[in-house]
Amino acid sequence: MRWDGQRADDDVALPGLALGGFQRSVRTPEFQGVTFHEVLARSALNRVPEASAMPFRWTVNPFRGCTHACAYCFARPTHEYLDLDAGRDFETQVVVKTNVVEVLRAELGRRSWAREAVALGTNTDPYQRAEGRYGFMPGIVDALVRARTPLSILTKGTLLRRDLPLLASAAEHVDVGVSVSIAIGDEALQQQLEPGTPTPRARLELVTAVREAGLACGVMVAPVLPWLTDGRDELDDLLRRLRDAGATGATVLALHLRGAVKPLLLDWLRTHRPELVVRYERLYRAGAYVPREYSRWLQERVRPLLVRHGFDRPAGHRDGRAPVRPGPAAAEMAPTLF
Ligand code: SF4
Repeated sequence: MRWDGQRADDDVALPGLALGGFQRSVRTPEFQGVTFHEVLARSALNRVPEASAMPFRWTVNPFRGCTHACAYCFARPTHEYLDLDAGRDFETQVVVKTNVVEVLRAELGRRSWAREAVALGTNTDPYQRAEGRYGFMPGIVDALVRARTPLSILTKGTLLRRDLPLLASAAEHVDVGVSVSIAIGDEALQQQLEPGTPTPRARLELVTAVREAGLACGVMVAPVLPWLTDGRDELDDLLRRLRDAGATGATVLALHLRGAVKPLLLDWLRTHRPELVVRYERLYRAGAYVPREYSRWLQERVRPLLVRHGFDRPAGHRDGRAPVRPGPAAAEMAPTLF
């Protein structure tokens, strides 16, 4: 690993990491305010609970914590298992599994491995900026392809571009699904809600680059934030831009606020949109999910927009581009899911 100006602070070892193969903590000028806690992981493949509705049974997460720092991030509470908080710690105390590739290769090499699809980007973003330093993803993709294992990637990180030749070549051997997350079209709002992420424009260009590499590219328009991003004009404009960028699918999901994320998002609203605090408190009064009435309302709003922009038809039939074989993630995407 190349760390310019790195500093190792063994004395900042965190209680929750004490038993987890902790190696050292590193700070670097390139990541102001961020500490990377390097650990040796015992396993790389995580099994998704049987009860989960997710369309995959296995995930790999090289990092815990994410410098993309989305205010609504549903993965934030997972940091509490490490005796870290779901707020600033999630954004600035990032756990790095330095041996993730080697451990994954060993796990995939077991005779019992059934080559079920593996999803990346379901908990934290595998193409967050730290991937530029640690460079795990080429090894992870290579390990999965050698094990004839289908894979899907969901990201907001434009660093994915670096690996497009590798992913295109991987798609000749296994199903490869690539999805980009673009929830917010307005750049000012995106900077406030997702301060560590590439701009919407950069992510739209990423969608185009994925298509030009010959891969399908679905977009997660998620989460839709009530009264912030659920306006008809905003959704219409975003879906039009997705179509123009070449997206092969669009999945729209309303915001949910589980555990510590609810108070954190309410804090964000108090700072940035105080007039919405009471409305959010009422909307999410019964729990983590929006009421059925809101879901139905959003569905009715979005459905004609999906039709207008051709997201109700198979990829390749609406924009004149060559049809593409959707990978597992894109294939799982119904035009709209709520
Ligand atoms: S990019 Fe994904 S994992 Fe990272 S903070 Fe945002 S929502 Fe969470």
